Amino acid sequence: MYDGIVQELIDELGRLPGVGPKSAQRIAFHILQTPSFDVSRLSDLLRDVRERVRFCDVCGNVSEEERCSICRDPRRDPEVICVVEDAKDVSVIERTREFKGRYHVLGGAISPIAGVGPDDLRIPQLMQRLADGTVTEVILATNPNLEGEATAAYLSRLLTSMEITVSRLASGLPVGGDLEYADEVTLGRAFEGRRKL
Ligand code: ZN
Repeated sequence: MYDGIVQELIDELGRLPGVGPKSAQRIAFHILQTPSFDVSRLSDLLRDVRERVRFCDVCGNVSEEERCSICRDPRRDPEVICVVEDAKDVSVIERTREFKGRYHVLGGAISPIAGVGPDDLRIPQLMQRLADGTVTEVILATNPNLEGEATAAYLSRLLTSMEITVSRLASGLPVGGDLEYADEVTLGRAFEGRRKL
C-alpha cells in the first residue's frame, strides 16, 4: 500500500480490464517517474475519446460520426453483413482483409447465466436492416464459445424464413476463445471456408 493519491491511481488502473495489481503498480510508477511521459496528452485523449467517439447508428461500430467509415464507404458490398459481438471484433476482421461487406455489432452475446437475452442485443436493428431485401448473405462471426454459438444458433433460426444465405465461420478457430485471439491467417481462412447453415 502506498500513501493517498498514489494508491488511488494504482487502484483505479487496477480496475481496467486485463490490468492486474502488479501491472497497475508498474503503470502508476511509469507515469510518476518518467520525465518524457506526456500526462496531459493522455488525459486529453481520455476525455476526447469519451466526448467524440460514439457508436455508428447503422452498424454499432465505433465512429466519430453518425455513420462509421465502413458504412459510409461505397466500395463496401451492401449485400453481405458480418455479425459480430463487439465493436473490437470489427477491427480484428478488418485486419484479415478478407471481408468486403459491412458489419453489424450485436453488443454482446446471449448468455442466460449473465442474464443477457436476445432483447438486450442489437437484434431488432439487424432485422430492420435486412427488411428491404438488399442483403443476400449474413455471416455469423460471433465468438467460438458457448455464448457465441448460442447466439449464432438463435440468429440462424430467426433468419431461416428469409431469403438470405446464413453462414458461420469455418472451424479452425480456437474453440472456447474470442475472435480477437485468432491470428489473421486462421481468421482469414475461417472466412473463406465459411459454411452455410
Ligand atoms: Zn457503421
